[in-house]
Amino acid sequence: MDLGIKGKSALITAASRGFGLATARQLAREGVRVSLCARGQTDLEQAATEVQAAGREVWGEAAAPVTTAAVDVTDAQAVADFVAQTGPVDLLLVNAGGPPAGGFTELAEQQWRDAYTLTIESAVRLCRLVVPGMAERGWGRVVMITSVSVKQPVDNLLLSSVLRPAVQGLVRSLAVQYAASGVTVNAVAPGFHTTSAVERLIAKKIEQTGCTVQDVLDGWTAEIPMGRLGRPEELAAVVTFLMSEGAGYLTGQGIVSDGGWVKGTF
Ligand code: NAD
Repeated sequence: MDLGIKGKSALITAASRGFGLATARQLAREGVRVSLCARGQTDLEQAATEVQAAGREVWGEAAAPVTTAAVDVTDAQAVADFVAQTGPVDLLLVNAGGPPAGGFTELAEQQWRDAYTLTIESAVRLCRLVVPGMAERGWGRVVMITSVSVKQPVDNLLLSSVLRPAVQGLVRSLAVQYAASGVTVNAVAPGFHTTSAVERLIAKKIEQTGCTVQDVLDGWTAEIPMGRLGRPEELAAVVTFLMSEGAGYLTGQGIVSDGGWVKGTF
């Protein structure tokens, strides 16, 4: 299926691993020029090699170029420089590391402020830098990675459960504002997936309870009707579809990809 995005330019944040990297690989296979950032240059170089290889599987020597920048999404100047270096962006994936795990009594005020900076401020900043240009050019796709916590609070993930719904509010607001400009704005809300973010959650749970890795996995999968965690490629496939030409009438949504974990009807 031709997704109609060959030759477009994508900017993907937090892309040296996990969902960002998986999405970059799929976009490269679609012939998209990908610009990646994450905090560490070494991991990014490895990621860029993988993304370039994915593009070459389909396009050979004609594969689109991949560029990288070591950027922390909470650093306003570094993000502005990264966007300027990338040039006009058609496809934007707003992604960052997740806020730390923790419950109500153990989280300090500074952790709430840091989580706001990481989760909300970084998303607003990227959109301010990229979306008006998309609207001027009359075409754009924005996808933000959130979490199932936008639908249902997740045990011991209070910062995510409180702040992620605000990102969905940003999605909905921008979607309406830019609907007539050819720009769609959506979110993908992942359930539990096999990435290093989940490895950190497992380590935290073991530290708190003294249980084993298998105990944690058994507890989660018992709550997931599909009986397994998702793969980052499955999540990236949803993001890539939302970025396609064919998804042009779909905006303001938060698509949950969770193997059936959320039990609500809407
Ligand atoms: P991951 O740990 O596999 O990858 C995170 C990436 O973000 C890495 O490349 C890391 O270098 C980069 N990163 C982290 N903080 C950054 C910062 N401040 N600036 C720039 N880059 C930064 O994680 P993932 O599973 O791909 O998670 C991506 C997002 O999805 C996170 O916000 C996570 O909380 C959320 N999420 C993940 C799951 C899951 O099951 N994996 C579920 C729900 C939500």
